[in-house]
Amino acid sequence: MQCRKEHFNWHKCSISATLSIADERPQSLYQKCVVAMETEGKVIECKAAVAWEPGKALSIEEVEVAPPKAHEVRIKIVASGVCHSDWAYLYDVAKMKPRPFPLILGHEGAGIVESVGPGVTKVSKGDKVIPLFLPQCGQCERCLSPKTNLCTKDWDKTQQGVLADGTSRITCKNQQIYQFIGVSTFSEYTVVPEDNVTKIHPDAPLDKVCLLGCGVSTGYGAAVNTGKVESGSTCAVFGLGAVGLAAVMGCKAAGASRIIAVDINPDKSEIAKTFGATEFVNPKDHSKPIQEVLREQSNGGVDFCLECVGNVGVMRAAVEACSPAGGICVIVGWIEVEELSLAPLDILLGRTLKGTYFGGWKSVEAVPKLVQDYMSGKLLLDEFVTHRLTLDQVNQAFNHMITGKSIRSVIEM
Ligand code: NAD
Ligand code: ZN
Ligand code: ZN
Repeated sequence: MQCRKEHFNWHKCSISATLSIADERPQSLYQKCVVAMETEGKVIECKAAVAWEPGKALSIEEVEVAPPKAHEVRIKIVASGVCHSDWAYLYDVAKMKPRPFPLILGHEGAGIVESVGPGVTKVSKGDKVIPLFLPQCGQCERCLSPKTNLCTKDWDKTQQGVLADGTSRITCKNQQIYQFIGVSTFSEYTVVPEDNVTKIHPDAPLDKVCLLGCGVSTGYGAAVNTGKVESGSTCAVFGLGAVGLAAVMGCKAAGASRIIAVDINPDKSEIAKTFGATEFVNPKDHSKPIQEVLREQSNGGVDFCLECVGNVGVMRAAVEACSPAGGICVIVGWIEVEELSLAPLDILLGRTLKGTYFGGWKSVEAVPKLVQDYMSGKLLLDEFVTHRLTLDQVNQAFNHMITGKSIRSVIEM
């Protein structure tokens, strides 16, 4: 009996992940394994952070997580990063399309498969996995196109917080709790569609690779996939949270010779250099608009700009900081309904404006490779994690983010 297969808490156990004989395990651990196995097919009662209504702090509740239905996977979440988008859907709702509440946020997690529903072939019980808010079914027109990663599988449903059958798998106080973009990682357990999960290396540290479920993959991919940053180019990255710092790392990997990191928080200067920034500019240190400052510093405009803030004013500045002669601006920051205004001349002479979702990665196939890149030292992840918190402290994680104290807080379940 493989510990990895049967004991879904094995990552926390003191014995090695390679242990293969059940009898070698301490008795207490063995009992834990048996208890764990007994959850299959049953409703699991566990803790989750519930968002009862917009604008209100998350509340830690006992929730019920139903067994997975056909083509679904129930995951024991081990760790979850806290992304700006989680905060924005709770506190910045006026800039977003309406989402149903109550809801469980969290979409940057990693965990272990507890059980699978009928028909699941891609993962099995005990696998280490990353749940994905963007599926890759491999069969829809968009999955078959090299131009996009926007798989259409159950898109409308998961955007409305439910799975394929129109319901969520989580309830609390006899009420259905919606699953944020079909995921909900601020819960000890969740259920996701089979196409919204990917199996990763069994030795991957879940408290780090969870960041590949959103922020780091997004920023890195925005530079290497969407922007297609070129060797020797000059880049500017606006906003140095995890997404922006990952974009800096992507520009460096692509061979950019100048990477200008831009943030209104001066504390981000040093950390940006860790990820490869060659310069730091604080817009508050200048009386001129930041786009003018950057154009002056780059002989008329930079080759690539990446907006990683989520502010329409910054988006316009990012477009205008690009060289009119072929500069490329990638919008990464997430705002759904507020309007972005541009003068036609911003584009007319030849700038390109692009957007990116999850860094352009085809999620199921790309994330395990990014995990391997981290494990082989090609990608930084540890450096993003500034705070480790428990689920009870999730509201503190929001506070650290908004006050600029954290790069990423990781919630360990
Ligand atoms: P974060 O809150 O951790 O970081 C944002 C950074 O922007 C902070 O360092 C802040 O000081 C800086 N900032 C704020 N105003 C600024 C300004 N006017 N000029 C320069 N810098 C400024 O956020 P994050 O988690 O890194 O996410 C960044 C954005 O990316 C958010 O809008 C998030 O919703 C979005 N996002 C998009 C995708 C996608 O698929 N496109 C995925 C994940 C996150
Ligand atoms: Zn995110
Ligand atoms: Zn698809």
